[in-house]
Amino acid sequence: MARILVVEDDPAMRDAIRSILERSGHDLSLAGDGAMGSRMLRAGAYDVLLLDIGLPFVDGWEILRSLGTGRTPSVIVVSARGEERDKVQALDLGADDYLAKPFGADELLARIRAVPRRAHPEAVAAPAIQVGEVVVDLRRRSVTRSGVEVRLSPTEYGLLARLAREAGTVVDHRTLLRDVWGPSHVHERNYLWTFVQRLRQKLEDDPHHPQIIVSVGSRGYRLGGPPNPER
Ligand code: CA
Repeated sequence: MARILVVEDDPAMRDAIRSILERSGHDLSLAGDGAMGSRMLRAGAYDVLLLDIGLPFVDGWEILRSLGTGRTPSVIVVSARGEERDKVQALDLGADDYLAKPFGADELLARIRAVPRRAHPEAVAAPAIQVGEVVVDLRRRSVTRSGVEVRLSPTEYGLLARLAREAGTVVDHRTLLRDVWGPSHVHERNYLWTFVQRLRQKLEDDPHHPQIIVSVGSRGYRLGGPPNPER
């Protein structure tokens, strides 16, 4: 069972989430505003953070930014706004998932079950992968280009690391969406497209003629060239 911190200012929503999560046996902590949420995050260890965006004192975006890349909890942003733009921003700032209000108990529990599995997918010992001038070090979670550190958002890194684990082979769209964003996102092609473009801007010499993240027809993407081009 997960240790979950819920940061939510609406008392009715907080009570609803509490009753769903306590019934399923999770270890629950609650914060009613962003300042309290930030303090609790600094003081305690949590597996999952359920984070509302519209909060008094310190809003959800600020909390998300303050977590940085080295964070422990998986983050599910829970927002009433439900706009595509918010969703992409949440994921880019490092959220693992995005849940629009209103949602059902089953949906909330399914999302919580899904996040911890993909929060640290490359925890296993793995080598550094080199493609051209780009080196993806899966153990240190760092990326360099011509020896210079490249700053990536957690989601950008997650996508690149997923491709790096099968460098030279095609990883199909559904697999990438499932492994990086979760099983509920296998049809969100626009996420994938957006994040591939961002990675190309940061990694490619010419983002319009990519050599690092290569599109393979309508199937998927491949990191670098095929292992045996002559075959
Ligand atoms: Ca709110």
